[in-house]
Amino acid sequence: MEAAAPVQHGDFMSSYHVRQRYWARALIGFSAMREAQAGGAHRALAALESQGYIQQLVTQNVDRLHQRAGSRRVIDLHGRADMVKCMVCDYQMMRHAMHAEMARMNPSFVGLQAGHAPDGDADLETDFSSFRIFDCPRCSGILKPDVVFYGDVVPAERRLAAQVALAESDAVLAVGTSLMVFSGYRFCRTAHDRGIPLASLSLGVTRADALLTHQWRAPLTPVLEQAVRSLKGAERSL
Ligand SMILES: [Zn+2]
Repeated sequence: MEAAAPVQHGDFMSSYHVRQRYWARALIGFSAMREAQAGGAHRALAALESQGYIQQLVTQNVDRLHQRAGSRRVIDLHGRADMVKCMVCDYQMMRHAMHAEMARMNPSFVGLQAGHAPDGDADLETDFSSFRIFDCPRCSGILKPDVVFYGDVVPAERRLAAQVALAESDAVLAVGTSLMVFSGYRFCRTAHDRGIPLASLSLGVTRADALLTHQWRAPLTPVLEQAVRSLKGAERSL
């Protein structure tokens, strides 16, 4: 999920102070996220795709770790945290480039961060009003991470692409999610309504428990790695 504290889409768009606070805190949190590595479950899902068992991966994660692990057919339902987008003209740029600009614009702040990270949130609270935000280089509009914030909606083209993939699927597997976020649950409900087998692999309960054809309550990585091994040699054509 988002590296910085959860923020409402409306608040982000309407309040300069909220954006100052968001970007100041993100300068620390984002670097930690960039260093995140794909895990065994990510790699196993990529292997299942290359074996022909996954036609489309739809993720609510915004960290791009599935792509880093080798998955190619990925829909980032909630967007990608490594990009920012202008809310006026749709100009896009890499988020680290925007961060670099803001680090340049806020030298005293960067120095303050270095001294207080990683647990300096309370100290940072006093500093937001002096933080300068980098605006769209094309139209000076508001740049926003290209992710779905709370109170925002999944862009129609992404939702439609996932729905098309769902319509062409012969089964759906929900991995490592409680499906509490509606954008994910909706697809499970649609699958159920269409009679498409629906399975879940996660440690806990899910919102879709009543709809499931199969449920495995188990740790993801060993189960997925075993699936890769078991299915090896029986690979299907893509
Ligand atoms: Zn713009």
